[in-house]
Amino acid sequence: MIEQSINGSSVLVVDDLPLNRKLQKTYLKEVGYQVHLAENGIEALQKVKQVSPDLILLDVMMPKMDGFQVCRHIKNNLKTRFIPIIMVTALNEIESKIKGIEAGADDFICKPFNKHELLARVKSLLRIKHLNKELQIKIRQLENAHVKLKKLAITDGLTELYNYRFFKEQLTKEIIRAERHGSRVSIVMLDIDYFKNYNDTNGHPAGDYVLKTIAGLLRNNIRNLDIAARYGGEEFSLILIETGKDAAGFVSNKIKNLVENTKFRYEESQPNGKLTVSMGVATFPEDGKTFDELVAMADKRLYKAKKGGRNQVVLV
Ligand code: GH3
Ligand code: MG
Ligand code: MG
Repeated sequence: MIEQSINGSSVLVVDDLPLNRKLQKTYLKEVGYQVHLAENGIEALQKVKQVSPDLILLDVMMPKMDGFQVCRHIKNNLKTRFIPIIMVTALNEIESKIKGIEAGADDFICKPFNKHELLARVKSLLRIKHLNKELQIKIRQLENAHVKLKKLAITDGLTELYNYRFFKEQLTKEIIRAERHGSRVSIVMLDIDYFKNYNDTNGHPAGDYVLKTIAGLLRNNIRNLDIAARYGGEEFSLILIETGKDAAGFVSNKIKNLVENTKFRYEESQPNGKLTVSMGVATFPEDGKTFDELVAMADKRLYKAKKGGRNQVVLV
């Protein structure tokens, strides 16, 4: 894989002497590289932009803009800094090498250059570059997988609402926030009425479809910052941020009515002739000051709604 990508690589040769350019071009072409040429620093920077080469062979001694300046330009630019640069220096110029390293050069080759050394150095840097590129791709894939996993860990698979774990985490946070700001937060527990009957009569897949439909209704009828979760089985929960009892009652009743007025398949098989839900509401701080207290209170009211004949919201 790597060898294949190296073979097709493009190399930019920068040198002010035509003979040097020609020689390097010939060597590089022989082994299959694409070669671009530039005869001064300005042209080199333009070519880098135009062709984004995989590697640059850069002469040090050039009029106007020397190789060090070109090198610094390329290495200071976020878009081009990963292009490896081989500086072409005169023999044994130790000072040039130090300056080259400071300018960000990746390797050196001395003039007059030996063909095999030139090709070996080019190949070795290209190999590193390609490995680096593969590494970057792998890192990106891992990051994407991580984002997906994080989302999966807090999502309910059937309804795609948040799951119980996320509900608990968020409500705990929202309680702390409401305490600090002196604001209110309400929760709603929602349970489908006679759902066992619906499942037993119409089958589990039909029941799943109802769960998904109700999940969609919840999602579409709360505000962006509010949370709709599948608490478990056929129970859902809402976190209504900065919402007191009256407003929570308004939202809950709207949802209750929406479910009642939605035409579900086979709903005539239900004891009251249609699919309905019961809901219990609890508000921080008056109904409880912790996650457990609020959930217990909302649950108690949900039970009251069931006892009171179902298809209703209990607020107090
Ligand atoms: P109530 O009005 O008192 O709430 O009666 P109910 O029949 O809804 O209550 P119960 O808790 O007895 O029944 C809950 C049913 O929910 C049991 C099960 O058949 C159904 N259920 C739970 N999870 C799922 C699910 O993931 N898919 C489907 N299709 N049904 C589920
Ligand atoms: Mg239930
Ligand atoms: Mg139920």
